[in-house]
Amino acid sequence: MSRYWSPIVSKLRPYVAGEQPRIPGLVKLNTNENPYGPSPKALEAIQQAADDRLRLYPDPAATELRETIAARFGLTAEEIFVGNGSDEVLALTFQALLKHKLPLLYPDVSYSFYPTYSLLYEIEAIEVPVDDQYRIRLADYDRPCGAIILPNPNAPTGTGLPLTGIEALLAAHPDAVVVIDEAYVDFGGESAVPLISKHPNLLVVQTLSKSRSFAGLRVGFALGQQDLIEALVRVKDSFNSYPLDRLAQVAATAAIKDEAWFEACRRKIIASRENLVRDLEALDFEVLPSQANFVFARHKSRSGAALNAALREHGVLVRHFAKPRISEFLRISIGTDEECARLVSALKEILVV
Ligand code: PMP
Repeated sequence: MSRYWSPIVSKLRPYVAGEQPRIPGLVKLNTNENPYGPSPKALEAIQQAADDRLRLYPDPAATELRETIAARFGLTAEEIFVGNGSDEVLALTFQALLKHKLPLLYPDVSYSFYPTYSLLYEIEAIEVPVDDQYRIRLADYDRPCGAIILPNPNAPTGTGLPLTGIEALLAAHPDAVVVIDEAYVDFGGESAVPLISKHPNLLVVQTLSKSRSFAGLRVGFALGQQDLIEALVRVKDSFNSYPLDRLAQVAATAAIKDEAWFEACRRKIIASRENLVRDLEALDFEVLPSQANFVFARHKSRSGAALNAALREHGVLVRHFAKPRISEFLRISIGTDEECARLVSALKEILVV
């Protein structure tokens, strides 16, 4: 608290990001990164663009990237917005589209950035409880609201919602903006993008950080009808008209075009997830159904905090949230099969003691 701060800053509870360790050799299954690395074609595109042209400002509208994303999803470039990671896209979305007279709704077990953004932009928000199986119950969103944001699949649970449910939600709330945060959708979820043409109140947010393995590049995007996208552009241009640098623009364009690499990586991750679920269940974990590149699991007799600490001792990082309702769970990102095997053998050692 300082007399120099804006009043809102003293109230902020900033999001705490997962640990990015400096110690080499740890098995890093704590921040839902992709273990396979980005498309080699995208890496080559970065090398080719790293020259004298970097003295020039990048295209503020990221036209080629937006056209590439639009073509990939069967939309027009005017229906695409790009930003510096989906966190930035979401921050601009909260500012541009989620503050209304009626409250914003989101699940109580969900992405921890939502309460942070709500506080930052002074948006009245209601946290709607997930059910006793940790699932989002769409019937509970049947109440007056100005906007709704849901991750699909949800984070940190990993459980997905069916498209029919989202369509019913959109139809029931024609006056509310509905944002579907699809950071993890490529690992088995159902994307709401095909609903965009019928629903002017739908905004879908995706990222290159997970299925396209570019967390280090920081590129996210939103898809929606032009009216919603225009609101995001206005806020962006009032904040930073060049959010994506030249290298990010060319690399992201090449990554979106490399469908074969994307398909191969996501298939491997889905297969490894199914194996890991079996291994964890054999070790007495309850694992929530996951359509993401992570699983959310709790042990039948050992505490989440204790297991998290013990795994760290064994050189394996996973994510533990010391929060009500979910403190017994561990969120484990899907690594390579070797990394998953190291996790399982560390657990075996810990659990016999
Ligand atoms: N949405 C959800 C639900 C997430 O878990 C994350 C990753 N932490 C993001 C958005 C942001 O991802 P990025 O900024 O890397 O695109």
